[in-house]
Amino acid sequence: MKHIRLRRTTGLAIAAALLAAAPFLTAQAQQQHAHVHGQLKLDVAVDGPTVVIDMESPLDHIVGFERAPKTDAEKKIVEDAVAQLRAADKLFIVDPAANCKLGPVDLRSGALGLGNPDPNEPVGHADLDATFSFNCTNAAAAKFIDLNLFGAFKGLRQIDSQIATAQGQFKRQLKRPAGAQAAQPARLSWGK
Ligand SMILES: [Zn+2]
Repeated sequence: MKHIRLRRTTGLAIAAALLAAAPFLTAQAQQQHAHVHGQLKLDVAVDGPTVVIDMESPLDHIVGFERAPKTDAEKKIVEDAVAQLRAADKLFIVDPAANCKLGPVDLRSGALGLGNPDPNEPVGHADLDATFSFNCTNAAAAKFIDLNLFGAFKGLRQIDSQIATAQGQFKRQLKRPAGAQAAQPARLSWGK
């Protein structure tokens, strides 16, 4: 809920930013880092021998809150979520034609103390950003990725995706299927 996020950050953070930068730049930075609950961004690049997936998600989808974990139960939720993200070949099933194996997984979240997070992450609305790299023997053959994200992330309603390949650029939007269907993989496909 973008408007709520903007309202909450209207305070010290913006006052400090206004002192530091021209208003135009501040507005732009705000826009770039706004997140909408229920929506997740995926950028897929099929490049040489790799398929690289960049994910930008409100932390809320992943753990159910957007701050550092406080209780043991919350710490356990974070631990499990991180393990699930590291096992990314269960979340992202790349077209078998490309013959890919999961390579490096990079997770970034200021609230969870992971990686090198975006320094402009808005206070009170933390993101989790991730880069999942797959090494493939025939990456160019990849025409789809089956996503298990709707099953894994209960609050997720929509995936906005951009795919860049040697054949061209594609934009795709996937909506959460109704009921039990959401537990099934959702196919993100492109090309022919
Ligand atoms: Zn949020």
